[in-house]
Amino acid sequence: MQTEFRVSTSSQQELIDITHRVEQIVGDSSISEGICIVYVPHATAGIIVNESADPNIKTDFLNALNKAIPLHANYLHDRIDMNAAAHIKSALVGSSLTIPVKDSRLQIGTWQAIMLCEFDGPRSGRRVIVQTIS
Ligand code: ZN
Repeated sequence: MQTEFRVSTSSQQELIDITHRVEQIVGDSSISEGICIVYVPHATAGIIVNESADPNIKTDFLNALNKAIPLHANYLHDRIDMNAAAHIKSALVGSSLTIPVKDSRLQIGTWQAIMLCEFDGPRSGRRVIVQTIS
C-alpha cells in the first residue's frame, strides 16, 4: 500500500520528526510483517533516522553538515539558483529509508526517530511517500 503526506517547513534548514505520522500509516495498514519504505521525492531535502529526544542533536547534525558543506562556496550550480549546498546535503543524507515492520509496528529503536531533513526551506508541502510491503 502506498500513502503520501505533506510536511511544511519553516526554516532554511531544519529537521522535522515525522515518526508518529509514519507509525500511524503502518498501524492503519493491513501489514503485520514486512518492510516500510519512506521516500522523499525532493532534490534539496532528505530523510534520516536519528535521535530526536535531545533537540540538540538536530542542531549538532546541521552544524556538522554546514561545516563540511558550507552554505556558500564556489559552487557552479549557485549561478543558477543558489542552492548547490542543499543539493549536496540531500544527496549525502539520502532520500529514502527501509524500516522492518513486525506486529504492525516499525522496528525502530527507543531513541530513534524518522526525520525529514529540510535543506532549502522554508517550503510548503514537502512530500513524504510511505510504501508498505508485506
Ligand atoms: Zn538547484
